[in-house]
Parts: sequence; structure tokens; C-alpha cells
Amino acid sequence: MIHEIIAVGPLQCNCSIVGDEQSREAMVIDPGDQIEDILAIVQRHGLTVKQIVVTHAHIDHVGGAMKLKAATGAPILLNLKDELLLKMLAVQATWIGVPNPGKVTIDQELRDADVVCAGALRATAMHTPGHTEGSTCLYFPAQQKLIAGDTLFAGSIGRTDLPGGSYRKIMRSIHDRVLALPDETIVVPGHGPLTTIGAERQSNPFLVGTPDQRLITSADDL
Ligand SMILES: [Zn+2]
Repeated sequence: MIHEIIAVGPLQCNCSIVGDEQSREAMVIDPGDQIEDILAIVQRHGLTVKQIVVTHAHIDHVGGAMKLKAATGAPILLNLKDELLLKMLAVQATWIGVPNPGKVTIDQELRDADVVCAGALRATAMHTPGHTEGSTCLYFPAQQKLIAGDTLFAGSIGRTDLPGGSYRKIMRSIHDRVLALPDETIVVPGHGPLTTIGAERQSNPFLVGTPDQRLITSADDL
């Protein structure tokens, strides 16, 4: 599998370009910004983008999706539970001081357990609400690789203080879904360095301790 990661935009969102070596078909995950740079990587590998997958509708992850769609013709996949956030892109732009990217439309609903394909590549969508209502991780079982969006980071978890966020839900998503994956699974978070499920299970300060203690320490969502 071809896998390039480029940190894009002022918040340095990790955009993944994932390609099938045989068919040269590819998917781009979280094209937040710098579409020219993403397209240069696509072209360097001789890839054809077949899917544009967005883990959640925060502007730093979705801001460049329409531009990439215009350049490639690939559909935009996003969980519909983030539609409200998608309609707030102008407001989100003022949060981080970037230009309003304009209206982004979803071409295909991305639901839990949906399988996203590019050539022989197969990824399973895991709906993991908490950072946002529609937050979704993308798991490549053959490669044991998880594109985690802003649900899980190396040594941290996604913030839950923005509209649609819920500490209780993100903890449930991480424990019930993400940590159910094998320890060897490589995690590509939405920002920052790569990690593994095993490393986070063992040392992520948000995840160690008993479940009861973790929930009591949070005043959020009560
Ligand atoms: Zn986010």
C-alpha cells in the first residue's frame, strides 16, 4: 500500500494519501488545505483519486474537499451526523482565522461498518462519536492501520468542548471501538505523530486507570 501523510493548513491536519500499488487507485483522507501539494503527491505516484473521505466536519479536515473534488471528480464521503457542523464552515473559519472555504456538500453518506474501496484497498468506517457527533475512524484491516481523525492522538484524545463534542461519548468510542483493535495497529491521528493501539492502551494518560475513575474525573457532559 502506498501511504503518504502530509500535514496541511495552519493547524497541520494529517492528510493521508492511500494508494493501491496495482490499480493505482487511491483515496485521500482529510484534505483540509494545500490541495496543490496533495495533488503533487497523487501525481508523483501516478494515482487516480477515487474517494475523498473526511473523518469529521472541522474546517481543518474538510476545508479543501471541494477543491480536491473539482480536480479529481471523486466523491466526498462524510458521516451525516456532522452535517450541522458542515453548515457552520463560515463560523469555523473565524475560529481559526482562515478564509471561508465555501459550501461543502456530501456525495455519499459514510455510516458505521461501510467499506470504502480504492482498487484492492479496503477500509472499514468506524463511527466513533465524541469529538464531533459524526466523527469516524477508517480502519485498513489488511494493513492493520487506523486513520483516527481527532478521536485519538499520541498521548491524548480529541477535544470535546466544541459544538457536538461529548467527553462521555469519546471515551465510550475509544474504549468500545478503537481499543478493540489489535495492539500492533498503527494509528495515524488527525494531528501530530503516529502511534500504535498498544502504546496508547499502555501509556495514554486519558486511557489508563479504571473506567469508573476516568468518568468521575470528567465534569463534562453531566
Ligand atoms: Zn477536529
